[in-house]
Amino acid sequence: MALIVQKYGGTSVGDPERIKRVADRVVASAADGDSVCVVVSAMGDATDDLLELAARVSATPHDRELDMLLTAGERISMALLSMAIIDRGRKAVSFTGAEAGIITDASHGKARIVEVRAQRVAKALEAGTIVIVAGFQGVSTTDDVTTLGRGGSDMTAVAMAAALDADVCEIYTDVEGVYTADPRVVPDARKLDAVSYEEMLELATSGAKVLMSRCVETARNQGVLIHVRSSFSPAPGTWIKPEDERMEQAIITGIAHDTSEAKVTIVGVPDRPGIAARVFRPLADSGINIDMIVQNTSAEGKTDISFTLPKTDLKLARTVLAQVCRDVGATDFQAEDDIARISLVGAGMKTHPGVAADMFDALADAGINIEIISTSPIRISCVVRASEIERAVRVVHDRFRLADPAVYREESAVVPR
Ligand code: ADP
Ligand code: ASP
Ligand code: MG
Repeated sequence: MALIVQKYGGTSVGDPERIKRVADRVVASAADGDSVCVVVSAMGDATDDLLELAARVSATPHDRELDMLLTAGERISMALLSMAIIDRGRKAVSFTGAEAGIITDASHGKARIVEVRAQRVAKALEAGTIVIVAGFQGVSTTDDVTTLGRGGSDMTAVAMAAALDADVCEIYTDVEGVYTADPRVVPDARKLDAVSYEEMLELATSGAKVLMSRCVETARNQGVLIHVRSSFSPAPGTWIKPEDERMEQAIITGIAHDTSEAKVTIVGVPDRPGIAARVFRPLADSGINIDMIVQNTSAEGKTDISFTLPKTDLKLARTVLAQVCRDVGATDFQAEDDIARISLVGAGMKTHPGVAADMFDALADAGINIEIISTSPIRISCVVRASEIERAVRVVHDRFRLADPAVYREESAVVPR
C-alpha cells in the first residue's frame, strides 16, 4: 500500500465544480487502499484578491496581520474539499498548517519550514482518513501564523511528503507537466517526461513557476520523488528525480523567463578596493536579494555597477541606495522595472561549448539587445527589455529546436542551425 501526497493548485480548485472533481480524483486515488494526504492552494485568485483587499485598507500592511489574512484563502479550499470528500462516503479531515505540524521560522511572508511534526496527520492517515492540509502556511517557533511565499503550497506538499516518507508527491496543476518553455508563451513547447532535480532547480529559480524553487531543493535533499501533472487529464506528467542514464540525454532541457525582477545601475562609483562590499552589505542587511551583478570597466577611477533584484524590493532598495550613493561617493543610481530575464537551462551545456554563443546569436538575429548576462555551469541568463521577453523565449526555443525531441541529444554534439 502506498502513501501519496497530492497537491492541487489554485486553478484546480478554482470553483465548486472543480473542487468536486478534485474530490472524485482524491477518492479514486484512495480507493485501492492507498493513504492520501492532500495539500490545497487557495481557490483561483483568492490570494491576489486578499492582497488587494489589504492594500485598500493599509499602504503598508503589518506583516503578521497580512499573513493572518492570507492564510484564510487556503482555509476555505481545505474545508470545502474535505466536505466534498465526506459526501462521497470517505472519512476526511482538514488541518491548517499549524494543525498539520508545519513549524516555520518567524519571517512573515517568506517563512522557511524548520520542522514538520507530522504525527497528527500520520495518525489520521493510519485510521483510513483522507487528510487535507492547507498549503502555503505554518506556525512560527514563536507561535505566530506565517506564510511561505508565493507558490508556497508546493513547499507544503514536498515537506509533508518528506515527513510522511511518502512514495510520491504529485503536484496537480493547470498544465500537463513541465515543458521546454512556458506553454502559454511557446505554443509548441514540448512536455518533458523526466527532469533532474538540478535542472528543475535552475528552471524554477529562473522563473518557471510551475514549481516553487525551494520545494525542488527540499525534494532533492530529502529524496522526494515529484510527479507534476494535470488536474484536468489522466495523462502522465513529468517526473522530477535524480539524474539517471535513462533520461533523455538532452544538451538543453528548457527555457525559463522571469518578469518579476528590476534592474538598478549605480553610476560613477569610485573604483577602489572595498567599494562593492560597501554597496552590497547595506542591501543584504535590509533583506534584499540581489541577483545578477555586472561591474563595467572603469574610466578615470569611476565605474558603473548594475544588478537585478525583485521588483517587490525596489521601494526599499531606493531608500537604501540613496544612502549608499552618499556613503561611497557615487554620482547617482537609476532603477528600471521594465526588464525581464530569459534563461536557457541544460546539464549538457557543461560539455558543449557554443551554447551561449548560439543563444546570443538567436537574440541578435531577432534584434533583441542583451543588457546583462550571467551563467552557472548549467544555465545562461540574459536580461532584455520586458516588452521583448516573449519574443526572446520563442526565438531561442526555435533556435535550439526544443519542440523536436530528436534534435538535442548528446550524440548530436553540435548545435544545429
Ligand atoms: P498552480 O496554481 O497549480 O500552482 P502555477 O500557476 O503556480 O499553478 O504554475 C503553473 C503555470 O506555470 C502554468 O500555467 C504555466 O503557465 C507556468 N509555467 C511556466 N513555465 C513552465 C514550464 N516550463 N512548464 C510548465 N508550465 C510552466
Ligand atoms: N495561494 C498561494 C499563492 O497564490 C500559495 C500557492 O498557491 O501555492 O501564492
Ligand atoms: Mg504554483
